[in-house]
Amino acid sequence: MQIDLEKENKEIVHRYRQLLKAAKPVLKEGDSKLIKKAFNTSMQAHKDMRRKSGEPYIYHPLAVAQIAVEEIGLGTTSIIAALLHDVVEDTHLEVRDIERDFGTKVAQIVDGLTKISGVFEHGSSQQAENFRKMILTLSEDVRVILVKLADRLHNMRTLESMPREKQLKIASETMYLYAPLAHRLGLYVIKSELEDLYFKYTDVERYQYIDSKIQQTSDARKKLIKEFIEPIDAALRKAGLKYVVKGRTKSVFSIHNKMKDQNISFEDIFDLFAIRVILKAKPDDEKAACWKAYSIVTDYYKPNPDRLKDWISTPKANGYESLHTTVMSHTGQWVEVQIRTERMDDIAEKGYAAHWKYKEHSDPKSRESGLEDWIRKVRELIENSDYSALEFVSEFRQNLFSEEVFVFTPKGDLRTLPFGATALDFAFEIHTKIGQHCLGAKVNQKLVPLSYQLNNGDQVEILTSGKQKPTEDWLKFVKTSKARAKIKEALKEEKKSIAEDGKAMVERKLNHLKIEWNNETINKTLALFNVKSPLDLYYNVAKGIIDTADLKKLKEPEKKPETTVKKEYTGDKKQSSINVSDKDIVLLGDTMQKLDYHYAKCCNPIPGDEVFGFITVSDGIKIHRTNCPNAVELMSHYGYRIVKAKWTSQTELAFLTGLKIVGADRVGILNDVTKVISNQLNINIRSITVDTEDGMFEGTIMVFVNDTSHLNTLITKLKNISDIISVNRIDT
Ligand code: MN
Repeated sequence: MQIDLEKENKEIVHRYRQLLKAAKPVLKEGDSKLIKKAFNTSMQAHKDMRRKSGEPYIYHPLAVAQIAVEEIGLGTTSIIAALLHDVVEDTHLEVRDIERDFGTKVAQIVDGLTKISGVFEHGSSQQAENFRKMILTLSEDVRVILVKLADRLHNMRTLESMPREKQLKIASETMYLYAPLAHRLGLYVIKSELEDLYFKYTDVERYQYIDSKIQQTSDARKKLIKEFIEPIDAALRKAGLKYVVKGRTKSVFSIHNKMKDQNISFEDIFDLFAIRVILKAKPDDEKAACWKAYSIVTDYYKPNPDRLKDWISTPKANGYESLHTTVMSHTGQWVEVQIRTERMDDIAEKGYAAHWKYKEHSDPKSRESGLEDWIRKVRELIENSDYSALEFVSEFRQNLFSEEVFVFTPKGDLRTLPFGATALDFAFEIHTKIGQHCLGAKVNQKLVPLSYQLNNGDQVEILTSGKQKPTEDWLKFVKTSKARAKIKEALKEEKKSIAEDGKAMVERKLNHLKIEWNNETINKTLALFNVKSPLDLYYNVAKGIIDTADLKKLKEPEKKPETTVKKEYTGDKKQSSINVSDKDIVLLGDTMQKLDYHYAKCCNPIPGDEVFGFITVSDGIKIHRTNCPNAVELMSHYGYRIVKAKWTSQTELAFLTGLKIVGADRVGILNDVTKVISNQLNINIRSITVDTEDGMFEGTIMVFVNDTSHLNTLITKLKNISDIISVNRIDT
């Protein structure tokens, strides 16, 4: 293919100018010179490289820088770091070259980005280790993560040109780590786009279906917004409020989730979109202006009292501030209205960086938002955990997802804990010592147990006793990683000191039996008593669970060969016996197929579904749907165990799949359903369970079909039966 270099160079210059234009409002004296220098350096370093799509490589750093400034609201240092982010990784330039030319800060950020690049290439624990590194940099300079998110966003936007299994890997990892991270940093718009892109690549059909529905209904929504705002416009202006109105549609992915979770159709989602009233207000008038607008809106429209949310008085931990209410429109629809100021809107969309920008201008104490608090907690978690990297990631991820609960100390100080946190979590939050000696608590003056789950607004007083100490049981109801880590630490200490006694007992016995305590005998003993470590052995001895008299069995001739002993405790490193190379494809339904595979029970794939193979430890290859509920975890943790899988078309087999049918109950409806299935389509039914309640009919039917088009025909036919409201495929 002939490449028109002149045209390409023009395009590069054009894109560079776009970047400068976007950056203009944040540039200070001399900044544009530096950006130009960074651009030239990057251009020179990447000059012979091209992206998978065939485009010049420089398009990528330019795009990442553009996202950083335009969509995250970052400044010059980050723009420069974004332009140079792949230079150390992919070219001959080194961090010290960057430092010399662009200073320490930029060099640090680029160094951080280089360390966490290529995250998904290797096995799970390496990936986790990389992620851990990334979190470490979070507590140093959050800009590393922000530029990384910009990088990931651009890679997701250009995923099209990647090979299929790479698409799946990158998409899953994005879903597993980056989307929650964006969420936690308050980058709402980016989080939604990442989720949508993930969805687009893992469930193509479903994505397109919902996306087209959104397009089709767009005019109707615009009309609704116009009609909604008309009657209140004058009142808002009369009250002296300057405002703009935006209509915001839910993301494709969140609509999909809603449809799935509640088993409803697109048309039944009542909060498909929200009306956003964005006010211009002076810093000291923001709260009053929002409540004034709320008062006017609810003068005209009746609010649903259960759905008022005030995140202005108590912002979310990621900095989000807004007033939400749901009101009844004059056309009989519930409409969510979000009221906020321009500043709040900026923070809601762009998150951390925007938050930073406003911080300087306002009272530092009131703006000391939950985010810095969160970063402090992350640092604590990193510093006092002896978790393996993998444990750390899953723990951290849980923290990313959780919503908060707000409670007060006896003195009235506000503390934020993850939703579901208990009185014991609160105790550890106050101080480790208080947690360890926590006996119980008084919530709103009433005595409650340690496991009491905190509610918003609770005032909590912790009762302690010097005699109290942590037990295994406590791990069952703590929610925060801090409490969990501290309890485990204490239990370990306790176990160690008990084990000391056991160790002495074992040594005495061995002496007596004249057995030498070397590596070989240690291994044999562990296998004999089926314990994982010498510590466990000593502990069990001290506790009387293992009788030292049994140690004499070590002298008996060996029954089991040595190898089985070894296998016992290298269990973690088990390797699958299947050897699969990158180029292998599992051809499903092909009788000549050499690889041994089964269909996963969690998602029951049928021909036509998008699928992948997963190499299990002992059960061959399992075939999952790409939208299987377990897929994200499998692909992001064990990317190296994924193999491509494809349906071949020769064999006509019957696959078991399930349908959930909902309808209005009437005489003969079940008969109509089974008639369509067995008589018209000649499909075998394996089981039917039906529930009827208050005139509603709900059936779960397991049937054998050939492929997805066969299944879709069945669904369409079932939907055409009168009084049937919805028919949906279920996973199991
Ligand atoms: Mn990159």
